[in-house]
Amino acid sequence: MDEVWILVKCICGNSFGSRKASFSSCPRCGSSKGKTQRELQSPESLAEAVAASNLPSQISQEIESRIAAEQSRRATTREKVRGGPEAIHRIMRQSTGSDGRLSIKKLSSELEKEGYTEPSAEQAIGQAEMEGILYRADSESWYWL
Ligand SMILES: [Zn+2]
Repeated sequence: MDEVWILVKCICGNSFGSRKASFSSCPRCGSSKGKTQRELQSPESLAEAVAASNLPSQISQEIESRIAAEQSRRATTREKVRGGPEAIHRIMRQSTGSDGRLSIKKLSSELEKEGYTEPSAEQAIGQAEMEGILYRADSESWYWL
């Protein structure tokens, strides 16, 4: 028996193939409201037609996922600029010299190096003093508690 195959374009935009005799619902959304685009005489030509028909949407999906990746990368960068307390504490430790003193100049340059505009070195130290983890050693440096 000669079977006829159909290329179906679903309302969701997905194209898929089906036997004409037993029309199936969309494998992507489950809808059976798709419209027959073409009739084909072999499963091979059907497969080609399905692939060609879905190509633009596959490309746009790829672009969408690339955009999503880019957006999440930017979100991570924003997060870094905003600076959580852990990140600030890490940079403060990095700025601590071998004598155990944290110098405000060093902290300021380390913050800048890591791309932080907020908080400033003064703000970060002020916060740490309030938290009781630093105390002033002299006008320019602090000890860890
Ligand atoms: Zn669908």
